[in-house]
Amino acid sequence: MADRDGDGYRVRGHDLAHVRNYSELRVIEALREALPRQAGFCGCTLCVQDVYALTMNRIPAHYIQSGAILLHPEATSRDDIESYLRDAFERVRAHPKHPR
Ligand SMILES: [Zn+2]
Repeated sequence: MADRDGDGYRVRGHDLAHVRNYSELRVIEALREALPRQAGFCGCTLCVQDVYALTMNRIPAHYIQSGAILLHPEATSRDDIESYLRDAFERVRAHPKHPR
């Protein structure tokens, strides 16, 4: 897969790397707050990335230009995001992608 900083996100010179899924930063913020409360969670990069990916995969994608204001935010509430995060933490805790 092409990296975001390379040519992989360019079309005829137009940079598309800053068209982002609107939910990314909302999930990252919720993840940042939830992580310190996860007793017994591994917390390595692989496990944190796994929690993030599992959570993002449950939220309908909605892409916008970075910095754009979304006039009709997606129906995914903060409560939903926190609930998806809790599920993801449980899954990764039970089934980490690396030896324990
Ligand atoms: Zn881990």
